[in-house]
Amino acid sequence: MAVSELASTIIESPTLRLNEEARLLRERGEPVIHLGIGEPKNKTPIAAILASAAKLNQGDVKYCPTDGTPSLKKAIIRYTEEHYDKVVAPENVIVSAGAKQSIYNLLYCILNPQDEVVILAPYWVSYPEMVKMCYGVPVIVTPEDGSFHPRMEDITRAVSSNTKAIIINSPNNPSGVVYREEFIAQIIDFCERKKIYVIMDDIYHKLVFDGKRAPSAYQFTTRDLEDSRVLVVNGIAKLYGMTGFRIGWCVAPRKLVTVMTNVQAQTTSCSSPVMQAGAEGALIGLQSIVEGLRLQIQNNRDVAMRELMSFNGVKTCKPDGTFYCLPDFRAYNGNSVELARFILKKALVVTVPGRDFGMEGHLRLSFAGTVKDVTEGIARIKWALDPTSPNDIYIGDKKLIRDWL
Ligand code: PMP
Repeated sequence: MAVSELASTIIESPTLRLNEEARLLRERGEPVIHLGIGEPKNKTPIAAILASAAKLNQGDVKYCPTDGTPSLKKAIIRYTEEHYDKVVAPENVIVSAGAKQSIYNLLYCILNPQDEVVILAPYWVSYPEMVKMCYGVPVIVTPEDGSFHPRMEDITRAVSSNTKAIIINSPNNPSGVVYREEFIAQIIDFCERKKIYVIMDDIYHKLVFDGKRAPSAYQFTTRDLEDSRVLVVNGIAKLYGMTGFRIGWCVAPRKLVTVMTNVQAQTTSCSSPVMQAGAEGALIGLQSIVEGLRLQIQNNRDVAMRELMSFNGVKTCKPDGTFYCLPDFRAYNGNSVELARFILKKALVVTVPGRDFGMEGHLRLSFAGTVKDVTEGIARIKWALDPTSPNDIYIGDKKLIRDWL
């Protein structure tokens, strides 16, 4: 089959592949625990269900404006004012089918072939692939000190005359790190001086623990939105656990939103008005849902940390946000792909290899599921890897004896 050179270089999404593997194992009746997936187990907020249902009941589900329904945009403007202290106009907002499409559209609209985009490791798997899909060049910056917090020196060294943008994701998927305020301030100052776009992927910005806050990029720009290089992406997927609604958005200067709207018009026309109504329902509905979800995930984080601390060979950094952690498993195997396969085969636990996030030797574990899954999943990993742990374990109703250590 003849496929384009570009398309053939784009890797499969490792997390979606793992979801599929887990689904197949479950279908065969295997008691799989999924610590790979990035979505909470909550039910869709009732306000979102009612709003979507009301739209369906009207029996009038048609194309709607490409950049989003006026009422959803109004809710997003209110959200931006409340959570970012920033007043924006409807012309600054474009709604897309998930934050993923917002980021892709943004990159498509700002990159010329061979333009470079700085990506900070560990990074969300899709960034480098999306940059490549826009004929750009991803430039990965990895913290030299082995931490998950890149330093400004590393970034300035990676910037060239071809650098068009930098992507910042804080709280960070996969490490859970929230970048420090001074760091965000330095980035914004540097990029605005150098005319480099800063794409703030804020999809986890409300999922922060222990009373901390993820700094907003708008705090540090002195420019008017229309002249600013700050582009903010957000969505409802993580905020309300509404991953299947596929609604995200971008706040940007009007000129850029116009170009993004043209591109979106030629590719997707618009996101579904039913799902947009659901997103609007969630945004204007009861917000205690967000806090409830945050507290539950924070508790899961604490459970995950407690379990991981009892592992002799694992080094872990306590996440300040998101529902992921990225422990270092190099004491057991430096090859994270091999290790993830081994864990799935022996312990029936899905993890995601750190290699996919630019951090070999680590595994990304999600604590978005139930406390039981988190506790049992980590106990199974420990049983599979740690010779000091008891030799036998129950997985489902089968008693298994470890005979490989
Ligand atoms: N950015 C990051 C860092 C993510 O982890 C995800 C989802 N895994 C997205 C964007 C995409 O969000 P959405 O589901 O709204 O497309």
